[in-house]
Amino acid sequence: MKDKILKLQSKVNMETIYGNFNIATFTDSTEDLMPHIALFTDQHNWSENLPVRIHSECMTGDLFGSKRCECGEQLQHSLKFIQEHSGILIYLRQEGRGIGIINKLKAYCLQDEGYNTAEANKMLGFEEDQRQYNDAIKILDYFNVKNIRLLTNNPDKLDFFNDKKINVVERIPIESHPNETNYSYLKTKKDHFGHFLTKL
Ligand SMILES: [Zn+2]
Repeated sequence: MKDKILKLQSKVNMETIYGNFNIATFTDSTEDLMPHIALFTDQHNWSENLPVRIHSECMTGDLFGSKRCECGEQLQHSLKFIQEHSGILIYLRQEGRGIGIINKLKAYCLQDEGYNTAEANKMLGFEEDQRQYNDAIKILDYFNVKNIRLLTNNPDKLDFFNDKKINVVERIPIESHPNETNYSYLKTKKDHFGHFLTKL
């Protein structure tokens, strides 16, 4: 993903089934059809221990209710949490750990043959996890956010903030309930990627 200067392109108030959010688009060009999205509650103080969810796009899980992963459940949980506690959800357009929807479905085919999610991505010529979080930092910077409570189970996402000027004061776990379909996927997340998962 190339490094771009993100600008707020548009913003509006949006009532949702979770409550009232502001929704905004961030990208470098008005021509961009896939801008990052920020959903946030009205803030009195952006800098104080703000709940933040950085959610990477997963069309199959977020929109279609796929049971192969837990993304949809995490997204819904985050929106509810942010509505209750205030905060911001940043929706990064990096489908399928950054390999895109076409390759994600190819990786799913390999997973159906018995390879795990990390092996499948590598067999397709990608890194195990190609996600980048620099754009999320730029969006948090735009709002002048300094201290965050990060909703995540992912140690890499926490490590990413180590040398950044934004401080993670707390990790908020975001565990879903495993199902038969996503059990082995979640097991790989826990055993291979070191995610903090306690319900497996
Ligand atoms: Zn997913």
